[in-house]
Amino acid sequence: MTASPEFALQPDRMPPERTGIVVIGGGVVGVTAALMMAQWGIPVVLCEKGRIAGEQSSRNWGWIRLQGRDLREVPLMLEAQALWRQFGERCAQDFGLRQKGIAYVAATDAELAEHEAWLESVKPFQLTSRMLNAAETDALIGRDDRAFRGAILTPTDMHAEPALAVPALARLAAAEGAQIFERLAVRTLETAGGRVTGVITEAGRIDCSGVILAGGAWCRPFLENLGLSLPQLAVRSQAQRTAPAPRIADGPIGTPMASIRPRLDGGYTLGRTRAARFDLIPAAFTHFLRYLPLLRDRWRMVKIRLGPEFFGALGRHRWGPDQFSPMEQARVLDPVPDARLLDSILAEAQRIFPKLQGVPVVERWGGMIEVSPDEVPLLGEVGGLEGLTLATGLSGHGFGLGPGLGLLAAQLATGREPVADPAPFAVDRFHRRRGAHGAV
Ligand SMILES: Cc1cc2nc3c(=O)[nH]c(=O)nc-3n(C[C@H](O)[C@H](O)[C@H](O)COP(=O)(O)OP(=O)(O)OC[C@H]3O[C@@H](n4cnc5c(N)ncnc54)[C@H](O)[C@@H]3O)c2cc1C
Repeated sequence: MTASPEFALQPDRMPPERTGIVVIGGGVVGVTAALMMAQWGIPVVLCEKGRIAGEQSSRNWGWIRLQGRDLREVPLMLEAQALWRQFGERCAQDFGLRQKGIAYVAATDAELAEHEAWLESVKPFQLTSRMLNAAETDALIGRDDRAFRGAILTPTDMHAEPALAVPALARLAAAEGAQIFERLAVRTLETAGGRVTGVITEAGRIDCSGVILAGGAWCRPFLENLGLSLPQLAVRSQAQRTAPAPRIADGPIGTPMASIRPRLDGGYTLGRTRAARFDLIPAAFTHFLRYLPLLRDRWRMVKIRLGPEFFGALGRHRWGPDQFSPMEQARVLDPVPDARLLDSILAEAQRIFPKLQGVPVVERWGGMIEVSPDEVPLLGEVGGLEGLTLATGLSGHGFGLGPGLGLLAAQLATGREPVADPAPFAVDRFHRRRGAHGAV
């Protein structure tokens, strides 16, 4: 793993002893939170244990969609899309941001009805989303056989190159004054009288008045080590990219068996929505009941395994502030992709989009997605610890929403007026339902 020269921790480039807010995690959420606070003139240090966007934030498919979102996320997603447009204008580098729409194609009447129901539910927001009939769908995907019943299209949805986008935003944040460090794991928090007073990193202590925890799949073990329970589990997902291919459409297209997103390099990123592998870990048993509805809904798409993760980095651990932590042990989570699943996705993509026939796949990769029980973010205070703002739980659709959540977390951490109502994302919503109190 190589750190970018501009962000590397080096003997002559060490973190300060004191700052305003420490951001833990250099994914899309942490980086945008740091960018916002630096713009507001707040001293901010971002600690990333591996490299900027080394985990989910560079491994995702690059869809920035409003379409199909849970209604609780829609207002924040509108803000996130506005931020993406601003970032596209401000970044010197072209990170592939394009507003070319996103379409989901329906193979059955039931799928079509699902899209229509969502469209009906978002009417009050006056979005650009609309239904396409079978002939329009054929025209969109380059077929002429009415193989699909129709589609839903949101022309204002966007896509970008994740591996370029988040590092470009980190450069923007650094230019605004954020101090960003790669290869700098935060081992734990320091607290006094029920409030956060600092963080202990592998290179020493940083005093601060607040912390934003944007550590993706690591948030649960990090909080468990502090004696706080967080309902968050992780699933393995994967993707692959092709060599340059003939143009099919300008924006991403999702079908039930294979989804495509045009890339800056002329190829396509291919995946299958909701297809994931869930490795059983001790936390799965702790939070089993909360996840039951989700598992019931997805049991056909999710493979459940007792895998190496049971004892691995995301398993159950305890460590002290002066001990080598799992975050130093696993600098970048790099799960092995499911080759059989990817073969099947490629075959389906070539069947659905004939222009992909004969186009080779040049790279495959995996990614660990953190999932909340209702697949909606987890934001705000945790366990009554003052000064700690959690921002995670993006549940596989946080590349698009990430800047919105980063902004909202930065606003909560600094006592600013929030851009959207944070209440639907409060971490204690699951406890409220069960009537429990105390730590999440
Ligand atoms: C295959 C795949 C496809 C996806 N497709 C899409 C898509 O098309 N559209 C979409 O919107 N979303 C998509 N997602 C989801 C999206 O990538 C994530 O929701 C989003 O990137 C999460 O961002 P994050 O900043 O919360 O977490 P991450 O990107 O996981 O970043 C967290 C960072 O925190 C660091 N960290 C953790 N703990 C510590 C610590 N103690 N000290 C220092 N650093 C720490 C980690 O090293 C990591 O870099 C996909 C995900 C995958 C895996």
